[in-house]
Amino acid sequence: MKHHTPDEFQDIRDAVRALCAEFPDEYHRKVDEQRAYPEAFVNALTQAGWMAALIPEEYGGSGLSMAAASVIMEEINRSGGNSGACHGQMYVMNAIVRSGSAAQKDFYLPKIAAGELRVQSMGVTEPTTGSDTTKLKTTAVRKDGRWVINGQKVWISRIQHSDIMILLARTTPLAEVQKKTDGLSCFLVDLKTAVGNGLTVQPILNMVNHETNELFFDNLEIPEENLLGVEGKGFRTILDGLNAERTLIAAECIGDGYWFIDRATKYANERVVFGRPIGQNQGVQFPIADAFIELEAANLMRWKACEKIDARENAGAEANMAKYLAAKASWEAANVCLQTHGGFGFACEYDIERKFRETRLYQVAPISTNMIFSYVAEHVLGLPKSY
Ligand SMILES: Cc1cc2nc3c(=O)[nH]c(=O)nc-3n(C[C@H](O)[C@H](O)[C@H](O)COP(=O)(O)OP(=O)(O)OC[C@H]3O[C@@H](n4cnc5c(N)ncnc54)[C@H](O)[C@@H]3O)c2cc1C
Repeated sequence: MKHHTPDEFQDIRDAVRALCAEFPDEYHRKVDEQRAYPEAFVNALTQAGWMAALIPEEYGGSGLSMAAASVIMEEINRSGGNSGACHGQMYVMNAIVRSGSAAQKDFYLPKIAAGELRVQSMGVTEPTTGSDTTKLKTTAVRKDGRWVINGQKVWISRIQHSDIMILLARTTPLAEVQKKTDGLSCFLVDLKTAVGNGLTVQPILNMVNHETNELFFDNLEIPEENLLGVEGKGFRTILDGLNAERTLIAAECIGDGYWFIDRATKYANERVVFGRPIGQNQGVQFPIADAFIELEAANLMRWKACEKIDARENAGAEANMAKYLAAKASWEAANVCLQTHGGFGFACEYDIERKFRETRLYQVAPISTNMIFSYVAEHVLGLPKSY
C-alpha cells in the first residue's frame, strides 16, 4: 500500500488554491446570504477538470487517486468555500463507474467529465425509515418495458442543480427476500424529464445554505435501461460509493478544521485586550492547540482511508472512522474559533458563523455518528448487531 507524505500533492494544492482565490470570502458570504447556488464557482471547478478527478481517463476524466481527489475537496473548504454544493458531482458518478453497463458508461461518463451533465444527487433517505435504509418504501415496478416508481424521499440534495439522480428503490418486497439488503435496485433518473411528470420536488429550508429537497414519486415512469447495476443488488451499488463519499467528506472537514485554526490563530495574535494579545493567555491558546492536535490526528485516518481505497482494499472501517474523527475535529475547531473571536465570531462578515453551521452538518449527514459507532462495534470489534 502506498503511504502519502503531506507535501506530495503540492501541485494540486497550488492549482486549486489559485482557482479558489478568485472566489474570496465575500463571494461565498453573498451566496450564503442569498441562499443561492455557487454556480460560477462550481462551473470554474468543473471547467478546470477538478470535478472529473475520479472519472477514468478513457472516459475523459483525469483518473486521479482518492488521495489526490481528497486534496481537491480539502482545498475548497480550506479556502473558505463549501464543497457541499458540488461534492456529489465527484462521487455520485462512482456508482456508474463501478456498476454501470458499457453503454451507460459510454453515454454518461464523458458528458459528466466535460461538464455537460451534472450527476450530483443520490436519493436514499426516506421520511418514515431514516437510517434504517433497507426498510425504505419507495418501489419500482416493471410495466410494459418501463419502471414505474412510487414513494417518497427526504433530504435529497442538489436536485435543482443536477441533471441525473441515482435513486434507490425496492424492486422485490421485503417479505419476499432472504436478506433484507436484497431486493433493492438503483436507477438513473433524468430529472429534467421527471419533474412535473410523476416527480414533485419540495425544497427544505434548512440551517445551512444546502439545496436539499423532499421528493414525491407518483407513477413516475423511467426507461427499462435506466436500471443501474444488477436488479435486486442496488444496496451493494450504493455501498460501493459510500466509502469514497465518507473519505472525501472527511477531507472537507479537515479543510474546514485548518481554516478555523488559521483564523483563530491569526485573531488571537492580533486582538489586544488587557494590554496584550488574547493568544498570550493560556486559556485562549490551549484550546486552539488542543483543536489543532485533534485535527492532525484525524487527518492521519483520512490518509489511511485514501490509501486503502486506492489499494482497492476494503476501506469500510477507515472511511467511517476518518469521517467520524474529521467531523468531530472540525466541529471542535469551529467552536474554538468562534469562542476566540468573542462577539465578532457572530458577525456574518467574519464568515465564522457560516463555516460553523456548514461543518456541523457532517456529524449527521451523510451518516450520523451513532451509525458509525454501530458499524465499528459490529464489524471491527465483533460486538452483537444492535439493530
Ligand atoms: C442537509 C442534509 C443533506 C442530506 N443529503 C442527503 C442526500 O443527498 N441523499 C440522501 O439520501 N440523504 C441525505 N441526507 C439524509 C441524511 O443522510 C440523514 O439525515 C441521516 O442519515 C440520518 O437519518 P435521519 O435524519 O432519518 O435520522 P434518524 O435515522 O431518524 O436518526 C435520528 C437520530 O437517532 C440516531 N439513531 C437512530 N437509530 C439509532 C440506533 N439504532 N442506535 C443509535 N442511534 C440511533 C441517529 O444516529 C440520529 O442521531 C441529508 C441530510 C441533511 C440534513
